[in-house]
Amino acid sequence: MDLLDRLVDKGTRGASADRADALAVLATADDELLDVVAAAGRVRRRWFGRRVKLNYLVNLKSGLCPEDCTYCSQRLGSETGILKYTWLSPEEAAAAAAAGTAGGAKRVCLVASGRGPTDRDVERVASTVAAIKAQSPGVEVCACLGLLSGGQAERLREAGVHAYNHNLNTSEEVYSDICSTHGFADRVDTVRRAHDAGLSACSGLIAGMGESDDDLADVAFALRGLGVDSVPVNFLIPFEGTPQEGRWDLTPQRCLRILAMVRFVCPDVEVRLAGGREIHLRTLQPLALHIANSIFLGDYLTSEGQSGRADLDMIADAGFEVEGTGAATLPGRRDEDTSEAAGRADLVALRLRGAGTEAPPNA
Ligand code: SF4
Repeated sequence: MDLLDRLVDKGTRGASADRADALAVLATADDELLDVVAAAGRVRRRWFGRRVKLNYLVNLKSGLCPEDCTYCSQRLGSETGILKYTWLSPEEAAAAAAAGTAGGAKRVCLVASGRGPTDRDVERVASTVAAIKAQSPGVEVCACLGLLSGGQAERLREAGVHAYNHNLNTSEEVYSDICSTHGFADRVDTVRRAHDAGLSACSGLIAGMGESDDDLADVAFALRGLGVDSVPVNFLIPFEGTPQEGRWDLTPQRCLRILAMVRFVCPDVEVRLAGGREIHLRTLQPLALHIANSIFLGDYLTSEGQSGRADLDMIADAGFEVEGTGAATLPGRRDEDTSEAAGRADLVALRLRGAGTEAPPNA
């Protein structure tokens, strides 16, 4: 059985690619690209049909971060010309979220810059969630607040938060190349805390920071090992004024191969096309919908995306449909995994054996 047949066979059964096959996908030639996309598309349609889930970012707190993540426009000492502000009020955040839900977003992602929240910050987010749910009871709320400490994940869940995002971003091996103020293990710890508290764990990666194919495979398998429900795949936005300024390593073809590799490693998981899709995939964005089943609608935290209208047109033109709030995103058995997650530290520990790390959108 050749590579792609094997990956489709495994993926449609919910089984992960092995490491050699994941690396082989990343090494395929441009001549094979459409075959790779078609194979990943068969796996995507097995679990998610033609549905595209829309997610909307609300930046609760911007800039002023003491951490030094090299890819981030909000890092310590960043010279990127971004808006900097402390917490939006619950009413301001709810108004921002309403713009996303009006555009078809099923999930609102509440993001705050910083190393991690204080307990007071968590209470502020709890009030914000209440304000959002009062106006849009069916919306899923994801929080992305940085590193969590004891009891915070549980408090967020009590407050009505559905998911927690904290990206691993890259492999454990090269994590110290992209951040010196916290480590890969810190990020893994927060993903575990979220998962153990019964939150749906969302954690992904950023490609294009000088990593190798091995690093990309490492982070994909680490995410698989952590049992995450959604994997945002970001492509580096090389912000001026950050150490990654001027780095343009990716091609549209490379981006599609990376997305396909993630799909084959995590076949029944929400794979989200995230930051940098417009500037790196460019005219090939619609092909990415055959692999990813979820996108961010409109703008990112500190950069503009294409307009929400253009996203909706792209989805319709490519023959896909926006996922409604009544539809379950994940296949049933993964939803059961999430609802049973609290207290299942033993299973998580098993999943983690030999695995890697986590992190936020392109925060
Ligand atoms: S990614 Fe998050 S923790 Fe790192 S510098 Fe940016 S806002 Fe701070």
